[in-house]
Amino acid sequence: MGYDRKKIEELIDGTIDWETQHRMLSEPKDPERFQVYLEILQERVPWEDRILLPYQYHLYIVEKKDTGAWIIKCDCGHEFCDYRENWKLHALIYVRDTEEAMSEIYPKLMAPDPNWQVFREFYCPSCGTLLEVEAPTPWYPVIHNWEPDIEAFYREWLKIPLPTEK
Ligand SMILES: [Zn+2]
Repeated sequence: MGYDRKKIEELIDGTIDWETQHRMLSEPKDPERFQVYLEILQERVPWEDRILLPYQYHLYIVEKKDTGAWIIKCDCGHEFCDYRENWKLHALIYVRDTEEAMSEIYPKLMAPDPNWQVFREFYCPSCGTLLEVEAPTPWYPVIHNWEPDIEAFYREWLKIPLPTEK
């Protein structure tokens, strides 16, 4: 397969040298490289639903093999929700909003004032991996990170068909 499959694996593993990484990331679009990247990710997960897009660390947007639905899935196999929904509302949430809870992660005087800032930690309900931490003001609603336009990403950016159309 592709000339730089090994380099892409190093990129995923974080073992690549800075210069090569910089060069790879600054080349604007490269459908072949993206496909190799998806292939490598696909080989590494224990399930067979096709990965359409890596969503964030540990999470993927996949096409379910049985129903064809597009959902957000953890690398452990946990299925969160439709890809347009906010997966965080389906995660286990731990809120640090007291001085005590803050002091577990911050030295006393460095902790933020819980009246002004809290920490929300989002965990996968199946594997318990900490997926994300947000630090909003206490009254701020749970932040929906992004809703990717998958079809436009493939058609207009990569100019290749969606993997599902084959
Ligand atoms: Zn998980």
